[in-house]
Amino acid sequence: MKYCKNCLTTDLRPNSSFVDGVCIACRYSNSIEPDEEKYRLKLSQLKQSITQSRRKQSKNTKKAQYDCIVGVSGGKDSTRQAHWVRDRLGLRPLLVCCAYTPKQMSQVGADNLSNLIEMGFDLITATPAPKTAAKLALDSFLQFGNVCKSTEMSLFSTVPRLAIELGITTIFWGENPALQVGDSAVEGLDEFDGSNLRKLNTLTDGGNEWISNAVKAHYKAHHYFYPDEYEFNKKRIKIFYLGPAWDDWSNENNATYAALNGLSLRPFDEHETGDISNASMLDEEFTNINMMLKYFKFGFGRTTDLLCEKIRDGEMTRAQAIPIAQEFDGVCADTIIKRFADYVGITVEEFWDITNRWVNPKIFKIRAQARPIPKFTVGVDYAG
Ligand SMILES: [Zn+2]
Repeated sequence: MKYCKNCLTTDLRPNSSFVDGVCIACRYSNSIEPDEEKYRLKLSQLKQSITQSRRKQSKNTKKAQYDCIVGVSGGKDSTRQAHWVRDRLGLRPLLVCCAYTPKQMSQVGADNLSNLIEMGFDLITATPAPKTAAKLALDSFLQFGNVCKSTEMSLFSTVPRLAIELGITTIFWGENPALQVGDSAVEGLDEFDGSNLRKLNTLTDGGNEWISNAVKAHYKAHHYFYPDEYEFNKKRIKIFYLGPAWDDWSNENNATYAALNGLSLRPFDEHETGDISNASMLDEEFTNINMMLKYFKFGFGRTTDLLCEKIRDGEMTRAQAIPIAQEFDGVCADTIIKRFADYVGITVEEFWDITNRWVNPKIFKIRAQARPIPKFTVGVDYAG
């Protein structure tokens, strides 16, 4: 396992791309100066084409009510994105959210969606069938060692699916995964282009077949499938990332902005969730399990991702980040694990048995019915 020389990303990350020992996210942040001017030019062209298509659609008022869709969640980035599109770009956005099932959604997430509606936005939420969702969460865990894989598939798919159905051609998405976490497969024509979002590891890994096999009713399975390129082209659907438009887009800044606008932050302690920001993935708690599993598979978790962002922004040195990653990566309280086990209908013992199948034995010491112990030291290349 090798670490990026600049941050704490490891080369075990899926779709990682290292050049001279430096990861793609660090290379991007060094090579691209935030260019508001360039972005403004692109957006004015975009607004022009939206206006033109609106004129063409004016007879069909149903399709002309909204200029664009902004994909939102009950999390922190949504508030800023929605405001930016409406107030700074002067567009009429429809917010679209793939909500969690009642047993999975947190109160904080529900409150935050209400807050968006109170700010005057129109919001459509689509929720997957609850029993199917629980079944697929267990299948995701068994087959991919990822308790949120099916959830993520539905989150990413809902927005373009609704855009196609409603005839709204422009979609704004928040972060560019190539820039923010270093998933090189999604790189587009430039940092704003989201046309390769379909290549995101979580959407491509394993394909769709396992869902079709698990869910017999097509209309329930359909919810999880990202529309194919043909459907995108036929309806001229375009996705733009908003993250690169701001030079101060970061987890922390977005959380501060949203909190000032009424967002509720997580009521838990970072020693339970491992979330040092207390603001990521606010709308449900099972993601915390996934962050722990990610740590067992790849040697880094969410803490490292948050710290890497700070290192790239110059807010922290690599040396300062190491002890924090050491303390919080992989943390997830037993109470959250118990809730998930109940949700998908397994025991906690079965949970650890399944987890152990996914732990990377080269970098962790596996123990029966207990948490694995790291063999490596954060920030130091480990040969095993
Ligand atoms: Zn790096």
